[in-house]
Amino acid sequence: MGITIISSCAVLPFTASAAPLTNADAFWPGGYASTVYSHIDYWEDPGVASLGYDYFAANSRADYAGIANATISFYRQSTSPGADMRFFAGSYADDWYGYCQTYKADGTIADIDENFVSAHVRMNDRTLDLDNFSNSERHYNMLHELGHALSLAHQPKGEDTVMKQGQHSYTDPTSVDKSNIAWKY
Ligand SMILES: [Zn+2]
Repeated sequence: MGITIISSCAVLPFTASAAPLTNADAFWPGGYASTVYSHIDYWEDPGVASLGYDYFAANSRADYAGIANATISFYRQSTSPGADMRFFAGSYADDWYGYCQTYKADGTIADIDENFVSAHVRMNDRTLDLDNFSNSERHYNMLHELGHALSLAHQPKGEDTVMKQGQHSYTDPTSVDKSNIAWKY
């Protein structure tokens, strides 16, 4: 008596619980030159503070910098040119909540598999207000976009990580995020 396979095309009775992506699978292939992570020069557009995102930005940077067994450090710059990471907040017409755009040395946009010299992290105050994001949901949004600047890719829905998409309350990277960051950096 063998195992009876009922039907190979049966619809699964529940959503298969996908494990979180780990290690190399959790990252986009592109990123900064490896020497940048221990000394990331960042700059904040005045809109970040005036729209109330400076705490979320500072706390998110400190969280990533504080991950055990990873070497990530941030240094504030007073001007934008030359900064590896640039933070913006504004009322953008687009429908995204947050966005991380990466650029190559020639100023063109880097694809996710290409290395980049700068990352622009943007918070869309308009859509975050429109959808009534709480403080911890705005905090999550900052952690998420900063995660992209560190080359973290999206995680599946339902996993306990700041890298899933949507509207979630997180004020710290999770153990999944921390172990992925520690693996790479
Ligand atoms: Zn994302």
